[in-house]
Amino acid sequence: MGRERALKEYRRRRDFGRTAEPEGEDAAATPDGEPSFVVQIHDATAMHFDFRLEVDGVLRSWAVPKGPSADPHDKRLAMPTEDHPLEYRDFEGVIESGEYGAGTVIVWDEGTYRNLSEDRAGREIPFAEALDHGHASFRLDGKKLHGGYALTRVRSGDDGGREAWLLVKHADRSAHGNGGTDPHRARSTRSGRTLGQVSGSAS
Ligand code: MN
Repeated sequence: MGRERALKEYRRRRDFGRTAEPEGEDAAATPDGEPSFVVQIHDATAMHFDFRLEVDGVLRSWAVPKGPSADPHDKRLAMPTEDHPLEYRDFEGVIESGEYGAGTVIVWDEGTYRNLSEDRAGREIPFAEALDHGHASFRLDGKKLHGGYALTRVRSGDDGGREAWLLVKHADRSAHGNGGTDPHRARSTRSGRTLGQVSGSAS
């Protein structure tokens, strides 16, 4: 999908006169090397983590209610959301009440990832194609998250329900048993601030 078409839904939902979120007007220069990922914590109507991977010039996005886990036994529900512009990886702040996604956002983790998706013969499958097929493997190189993870589509959404995926840690050397993160205590990797500090409700 072209970038402009991919961002239509993102723009349709937002009034850029009222939210500080980026409109994504200028295609960000894509630096050579590995594609980026970002995980934001979003204290909206329901607290969740937004897990975003750079694919073909946009951030493919999933809302993960409990957040990523480093424990391979944890199967984290990941609900796909609309593609976001690359500039969104820099967004940290407050989305005003009344606006779509109203609430506080912090950048919890960021870095790059490498595609690990392979077919049965061990040949690499392009990442966008792996996602289209409903199963993608990748290695995160973030400040907090490390090592292999997989995203697997477990419900298509064709039956009228919502499409659903699972985000699961690979059982590799970076796996460990205390996997979760308390979103209220978590700190921004950009500013060191908590959600409460960004929203102004805590000092
Ligand atoms: Mn969100």
